[in-house]
Amino acid sequence: MPFEPTDYLPYDFANRRHIGPSPDEMADMLEVVGADSLGALIDETVPKSIRQEKPLDFGKPKSERELLWHMRQVAKKNEVLTTLIGQGYHGTVTPPAIQRNILENPAWYTAYTPYQPEISQGRLEALLNYQTMVADLTGLEIANASLLDEATAAAEAMTMAQRVAKSKAKAFFIDENCHPQNIAVMRTRAEPLGIEVIVGAPEEMDAAQVFGAVFQYPGTYGHVRDFTPQMDAMHEAGAIGIVIADPMALCVLKEPGAMGADIAVGSTQRFGVPMGYGGPHAAYMACRDAYKRAMPGRLVGVSVDSHGNRAYRLALQTREQHIRREKATSNVCTAQALLAVMASMYAVFHGPKGLKAIAQRIHRKTVRLARGLEEAGFEIEPADGFFDTITVEVGLFQRGVLQAAVKEGVNLRRVGKTKVGITFDEATRPAIIEAVWRAFGIHRKDEDLDPEYRLPDALVRTSDYLTHDVFHMNRAETEMMRYMRRLADRDLALDRAMIPLGSCTMKLNAAAEMMPISWPEFSNMHPFAPVDQARGYAEMVQDLSEKLCVITGYDGMSMQPNSGAQGEYAGLLTIAAYHRARGEGHRNICLIPVSAHGTNPASAQMVGWKVVPVKSAENGDIDLEDFRAKAEQHAENLAGCMITYPSTHGVFEETVKDVCKITHDHGGQVYIDGANLNAMVGLSRPGDLGGDVSHLNLHKTFAIPHGGGGPGMGPIGVKAHLEPYLPGHPETGGAEGPVSAAPYGSASILAISWAYVLLMGGEGMTQATRVAILNANYIAKRLEGAYDVLYKGPTGRVAHECIIDTRPFAESAGVTVDDIAKRLIDCGFHAPTMSWPVAGTLMVEPTESETKAELDRFCDAMLAIREEIRAIEEGRMDPENNALKNAPHTMEDLVRDWDRPYSREQGCFPPGAFRVDKYWPPVNRVDNAWGDRHLVCTCPPMSDYAEAAE
Ligand SMILES: *Cc1c(COP(=O)(O)O)cnc(C)c1O
Repeated sequence: MPFEPTDYLPYDFANRRHIGPSPDEMADMLEVVGADSLGALIDETVPKSIRQEKPLDFGKPKSERELLWHMRQVAKKNEVLTTLIGQGYHGTVTPPAIQRNILENPAWYTAYTPYQPEISQGRLEALLNYQTMVADLTGLEIANASLLDEATAAAEAMTMAQRVAKSKAKAFFIDENCHPQNIAVMRTRAEPLGIEVIVGAPEEMDAAQVFGAVFQYPGTYGHVRDFTPQMDAMHEAGAIGIVIADPMALCVLKEPGAMGADIAVGSTQRFGVPMGYGGPHAAYMACRDAYKRAMPGRLVGVSVDSHGNRAYRLALQTREQHIRREKATSNVCTAQALLAVMASMYAVFHGPKGLKAIAQRIHRKTVRLARGLEEAGFEIEPADGFFDTITVEVGLFQRGVLQAAVKEGVNLRRVGKTKVGITFDEATRPAIIEAVWRAFGIHRKDEDLDPEYRLPDALVRTSDYLTHDVFHMNRAETEMMRYMRRLADRDLALDRAMIPLGSCTMKLNAAAEMMPISWPEFSNMHPFAPVDQARGYAEMVQDLSEKLCVITGYDGMSMQPNSGAQGEYAGLLTIAAYHRARGEGHRNICLIPVSAHGTNPASAQMVGWKVVPVKSAENGDIDLEDFRAKAEQHAENLAGCMITYPSTHGVFEETVKDVCKITHDHGGQVYIDGANLNAMVGLSRPGDLGGDVSHLNLHKTFAIPHGGGGPGMGPIGVKAHLEPYLPGHPETGGAEGPVSAAPYGSASILAISWAYVLLMGGEGMTQATRVAILNANYIAKRLEGAYDVLYKGPTGRVAHECIIDTRPFAESAGVTVDDIAKRLIDCGFHAPTMSWPVAGTLMVEPTESETKAELDRFCDAMLAIREEIRAIEEGRMDPENNALKNAPHTMEDLVRDWDRPYSREQGCFPPGAFRVDKYWPPVNRVDNAWGDRHLVCTCPPMSDYAEAAE
């Protein structure tokens, strides 16, 4: 024999990409855990009564090369035309340096939400730039760090207006010039809350009748109006004025703040973020200072660290807004951080002069287009002034013009029965102008001879914006590249270390899965492009939906919700519509265990339901007797329950089927929060347990990266009886209203999850689930004795995550969960989920992607921290001046005078920390309270740097 035949499977074939531990490592780990085999461990952990019957089988999984080839074929079925439909979505030019250094850079896209500020200073700075950009452009004082999309941001503004308005009127006015999807999403949101919606022309608004009103600027048909009179009238009446504004238009047009607007919202998509068939891109919200505490979403603010140095962190209640449960101002959790970072970098790249030049060029091209049409005898609307959009009356020729345009490679917008809408953008070239003219039968050359403006004089912007230094740096790409690199280096993302976040499933986002989202066939599709141009998307959505149905045991799937919480809201609306259709619309009670994620009660509140909390039993399970009693007590009005499986305590509850049965017996529907699906895929299906609806967090279980706080996708699966009540959309139909701006939410990132499913196959995904459970049990076992693990199943196993009890150390050593979390930074780790679902504890979820070496590094760090605590307990270490209290340690600490009762070595290089590749946090512990007392949420002037350092 010339060689020994090997049965070793190369990397690509054995799912070695996604599954961390090698077969040998798994054998060692099983020994530590005390299980005979992986199968035996799973049998002990996942109760027989909930196991699925058939193994998952999607045929042979694809290799990476096969996958990319296959996805190319599907992508080619999308025909990307130049799309001038507008309606809130625009062609844009992503600067290649941003595409490569941010969008395609794992240091940015694999980061977690910046709840641990010390390891998040880079993305916090980028988001602060974003907030500054939005505040400047809108002329309002304060802006948040992104919302999901323009339509949902408008809906958030509506409910915010209701909270803060002095007027007690019950109605809300919507300008008929708002984009149709904005109107539709606001209607959906208004209905269950009993808000009466009045849609009309801006001049028809009667301020005395409403608590608030919203206007689109520029309007969907191109009008630019000054809303100052409306704002004045509303303020007189104690109502709130909202403007939905295009940030590109604001570079040349009078800002909403100058009109007296109280709130502005909009989409920053055209700041360098591709359309992606609907998303993801960042919506923004800005408001007057007086309303900042009522603002939904996350807000980055400036604070100081323990040495008085400037440091950023999430501000106010927005740190974890939804922790306020049914009292939360909204359910927004995952938003669009990565896309906000891209948009902010686009502004940094171009600076105020560049943005103004881009906006002027867009306008000038639109004027040229209009002149050509007018000179050929067409009637243009609005005649008196526009920015980038015009509407042309074509009478009977609408179809003909639209078709002729498609032949020219251009999509125009169908407006009413006799008009055509055209919206220009940064990418519109002279050849496109000529092509559009040809669609109207006009043959002429585009010449930019005498630049002409058609902005109404009174609406030309006179104020400055983007005056901060960051928007005036040297724009050589060298400098830009280094700025993005410097910020990325301040952060700890998955490209450096495990992020063991319970409930958040920070698994690998494989490179091959990420590649297709940059392909123009996926990224440059307009969400309202004719469906026959989007066949590739249709195929992908269809196939992914079918596979997710098989995985979850549901019959139908809606891809519309663009976050998990949005999925909850959509699922509850679906249940409510079902009850209504059966004449049981009065059902409005929702049972939710106290251990539920805060978005659950926040979502229930958004559909007008009352939340009845259900107790937890000693062992962490739902208290079945309490559940039964409450279901009986509210049987008349029971709308449903919201439970999480496996529970947020990290346990497969055996009683889940009873909980579902009790709910059904009392006329309710069961919502199973699917955020923990990574512990179930291939082993158990929520649809089989008795669930009627679940959302899946594709950015947890199905490999979409977290992006430092978004994007995400939260599709919902439903049983057949609920299918007719899934969200509809003005563009695609359906009886129910939409919950998101685009029919398939943030459609482009579905490609990541689809790639994940195709690469893994049924057996691969099932193995991932098993290994996720093994990894969690390995950690629980290794930490045994040092820490108590709260909540285990009857056989002593945990599911895919475990809760480590750190509460006893508060008493024994004065050490808090914060101290441990910050000390983990010194060890080179992002802390686990802190104080949820149990205050004072850490919830660890390693996922299947982490290798044994990384798990051991984490366990070694945790065990060493336990010994540091012991030293305090035993009086060997100062209870105030110790490595835990002083954590995290910076490079400054290392080189500064050292007067501590432990060595530099002990302080800066605890077990777990790498020597050569040591992660140094850029700041010491951040003082959250200081920042809340001195709230600053835009980039402070440079002169402040000196002050903060004092
Ligand atoms: C993450 C999570 C959610 C919310 O999902 P988002 O995508 O952040 O909106 C809801 N429930 C649970 C249990 C979660 O872990």
